[in-house]
Amino acid sequence: MSGLYFHHASSLEHDPSVHMPGHPDTPERLLVLEAHLQAAGWLGFERRQAPAAEERQLELIHTRRLVEHIRAMCLAGGGAIDPDTFVGEASYRAALHAAGGACALTRALLAGEARVGFSGTRPSGHHAEPDRAMGFCLFNNVAIAAELAIRELGARRVFILDWDVHHGNGTAEAFRRRSDVLFASIHQGGGFYPGTGALQDVGSGAGEGYTINLPVPAGSDEQLWLSLLEHIVLPAASAFAPELVLISAGFDAHRADPLAGARLETESFAEMARHVRDLARRLDVPLGAVLEGGYQPAVLAECVQATLAALVDEQPACSAAPEGLLTSRAAAQIGRYWPL
Ligand SMILES: [Zn+2]
Repeated sequence: MSGLYFHHASSLEHDPSVHMPGHPDTPERLLVLEAHLQAAGWLGFERRQAPAAEERQLELIHTRRLVEHIRAMCLAGGGAIDPDTFVGEASYRAALHAAGGACALTRALLAGEARVGFSGTRPSGHHAEPDRAMGFCLFNNVAIAAELAIRELGARRVFILDWDVHHGNGTAEAFRRRSDVLFASIHQGGGFYPGTGALQDVGSGAGEGYTINLPVPAGSDEQLWLSLLEHIVLPAASAFAPELVLISAGFDAHRADPLAGARLETESFAEMARHVRDLARRLDVPLGAVLEGGYQPAVLAECVQATLAALVDEQPACSAAPEGLLTSRAAAQIGRYWPL
């Protein structure tokens, strides 16, 4: 059994550059990605159409006010939501299919139709908070899928890893008081967009300890990212024993990405994917990845290809010693809640 790949043509119709020439979130990102995957035979993944989410699914995470606001704005021809986030007439439909792809992937995985899958749609979602769209994101695709898994598909615990270079503030906010979703994010810190995600923010109330924020300095390379993943995130996730693993898979931590200052290589994403795949295999639970950022289209395409290949290959993940002061500082904080 290979993996599933969800996509939809409406993803190409959401185009912020109509409102802001030079906007990095272009339809070309997916055009180049899909041409690249097509040439690679989709790595053997079964392609499926991402259905449109129903509004009640969006409201698993979002307020009715936000859903109505985005819908009305698109119907009226679009405009600016914030200085980075724009919608056009076709954006609402694209956003419904982006959320629907993540939901359909989750539904198929939990029904046992595949062990791994990827939803390659846009707009991305991880910055969208329950009552606020921001940061190129309209609705929080991965959070909606996680909540669907818990409320309607019988999963008791969901682990979300966000490896996009930006902090997944929307996902963190959606689950910050919850102990049934473990959210871990490795991201560029130091005031980098969106400015949230400090190591000390571990969630609150019943959710204390169930948010793991691992900010890294600009210029960090795979040694640090993989160290934090292997020695902090994975032991905690393993102890949490999720019944579903989701990845907020952004690829803008690549050294060639124009928006950020991390220094991952294409192979770094494959290695992260192998580590998470091995966790899911050990726990015998399914793994779904949902596309977030990645703004150099040719590099994004290579990274997604490498990730898909890693999700289904048998190459073992490499183990390495903990790297540096940041890993030990993170261990001191996160080790208060989880056996590392
Ligand atoms: Zn990003």
